[in-house]
Amino acid sequence: MELTDSVTKLKGVGPKMAEKLARLGIGTVGDLLDFYPRRYQDWTKITPMDELVFDEEAAVYGTVVDMKEARPRPRMSILTVVVADGTGAVNLVYFNQPWKRNEFTRGQHILAYGRAEYSYRKIQMQNADTEAVEPERLRGFQKLVPVYPLTEGLKLSRMQELIRQALENAEGLDEDLPPQVVREARLMGRREAVEAIHFPPSWAAQKAARRRLAFEELFFMQAGIALLREKRRQGRSGIKCAPSGRLVAAVRARFPFTLTAGQRQAFADIEDDMEGLVPMQRLVQGDVGSGKTAVAALAIAKMTENGYQSALMVPTEVLAQQHFATLSEWFEGLPIRTALLTGQTKASEKRDILEALAAGDIDVLIGTHALIEASVVFGRLGLVITDEQHRFGVRQREALETKGESPHTLIMTATPIPRTMALSVYGDLDVSSIRGMPPGRHPVKTYAVGQDMLVRVYRFMAREMDAGHQVYVVCPLVAESEKQDLAAAEKVYRELAEKEFPSYRCGMVHGRMKEKEKEEAMDAFRDGQVQLLVATSVIEVGVNVPNATIMFVYGADRFGLSQLHQLRGRVGRGSAQAYCILYTDSTGETARLRMQLMTQIQDGFLLAEKDLLLRGSGEFFGYQQHGLPDLHAADILRDLPLLEEARRAARKAVAAGWDFRDELARRFGGKFFERIYH
Ligand code: ADP
Ligand code: MG
Repeated sequence: MELTDSVTKLKGVGPKMAEKLARLGIGTVGDLLDFYPRRYQDWTKITPMDELVFDEEAAVYGTVVDMKEARPRPRMSILTVVVADGTGAVNLVYFNQPWKRNEFTRGQHILAYGRAEYSYRKIQMQNADTEAVEPERLRGFQKLVPVYPLTEGLKLSRMQELIRQALENAEGLDEDLPPQVVREARLMGRREAVEAIHFPPSWAAQKAARRRLAFEELFFMQAGIALLREKRRQGRSGIKCAPSGRLVAAVRARFPFTLTAGQRQAFADIEDDMEGLVPMQRLVQGDVGSGKTAVAALAIAKMTENGYQSALMVPTEVLAQQHFATLSEWFEGLPIRTALLTGQTKASEKRDILEALAAGDIDVLIGTHALIEASVVFGRLGLVITDEQHRFGVRQREALETKGESPHTLIMTATPIPRTMALSVYGDLDVSSIRGMPPGRHPVKTYAVGQDMLVRVYRFMAREMDAGHQVYVVCPLVAESEKQDLAAAEKVYRELAEKEFPSYRCGMVHGRMKEKEKEEAMDAFRDGQVQLLVATSVIEVGVNVPNATIMFVYGADRFGLSQLHQLRGRVGRGSAQAYCILYTDSTGETARLRMQLMTQIQDGFLLAEKDLLLRGSGEFFGYQQHGLPDLHAADILRDLPLLEEARRAARKAVAAGWDFRDELARRFGGKFFERIYH
């Protein structure tokens, strides 16, 4: 039986059962074997009956001393089997299973597994699993019994039986890791591991099996990433830049600040890359406000100096405008010609820009997705920068890269993740982390408040506005639908504009506005015409209004930590003390913990780690977006050391020319595989 065979090949699996299994995502024999137990019943340890813990599962072993059957009502039966072990007794209780009576006889030795409960001062187990076992055969029954997620009409015992069948008949469970890797990492063999993850003879075996399977998963993921990296580098010589010269120095001199150590290091990494033979593939991650734009400006200057064009792509119109304004200012009077192209650019203007771009008369083009359009042709594109990359798919980034010949690539993100995790998610990229903030920044004072504090908070907001500052109010994400979000935001707006702050100038910006309206609303806020801006989370990305000192977030429990941190990063950009006030009604444990972390931690990297721990690694990165496969056995959080080990081994194997094509095709197929081999 092959792993790719349908489950209907198994004995006793017809279309009906196949459908039930399909509900669990199981279509093939291989899927079935990859369906690891959620937990195990521990039959290895027999608990003396007087040591049973209320509400915990345990195995007991004793003699049947009594049996009673009650029929309190016509169609109801209660079978009670009393088992005693010398320390105490347990009542095994079965409702409406009269046939069970025949499974027990007085004086018989019984091994039972169930959840201990108290009922009328007696210990009982309802629907316990039992085996009649004589003492001399007891050892054979003391094992770990796998428990699987199930679906209606599929019983645990049936599932176990199917997996046993698959294990006995499946071919293709041969070793697929290079023998040297198995040896060096001291891994359990593949078949042995698959068997032991389902039916472990001991906890030690279960642990070794899980380690092996997790390693294997991480190994192949890392091998894929390593191959991807090789492919990017192979046979492609990048544009080898000269050491940075006068233009770079001139731009640096334009900054109204000196670079932080983090910025200097990031740019030094970039210089190294750009002066090398291989095209740069670098991710710069740094907290909101760490000054990534300045680093990008230097890279652009360097590219210009070397006679090539740069493209800077950002996810929103507002951000594109802002970058354009910033860079135009820094580059003013220098030979770096700047242009802006977005969905809003007028047709005639666009025509001119495209013409100049193709002729090489523009040095850096800033814009939104509009840059990907086919009509956008660069004369000599040498550097592609994407900002706030989490808003883009890999494909979009790559689409822009194809507009040049092996251009240098710089990716900037304000959603920092711990370095070791970056290794797996962005494994094919080199990573620079800007830790630390420009000097003179006061940490944003962060408070979590509830209903009882609202009046005081509003008074405080008025005071800040009276002092000439501005306030953001972010509305909760109500639902999936933008329409509902809007309704909620409008309600908040009316409440604030009409009731709480009638004498202040209030404005609103939300996701359903046309780009033009959004811009106008943001401009009005930036210019200070609007003092209090009510917003849905559209302002999350990149807006810079240094005069704003309060970020008030309604329904803060609806946002993830990273998102809250992004929002908080909108304030504290000027010299005045800034505040982030998180409002929540929720008394839930997670909400409380999140608020606590927000008030205590300012560092985005640290918050990202905590966020990961709270949420679990699964949804955090959006593996899908990166085209990476989901992990079954491995857990990126728990298995960081294993990940490092697997990564080292994978890089070594790839460098040694080991061919993983079949393996990767089988495991990943689809997107990820295509990116490696096509
Ligand atoms: P982000 O990393 O979030 O993109 P920005 O590039 O928008 O950050 O920078 C945030 C603010 O910090 C800007 O106003 C910028 O001018 C300022 N800034 C950047 N670098 C420094 C520095 N080294 N010293 C002082 N201010 C800086
Ligand atoms: Mg930025």
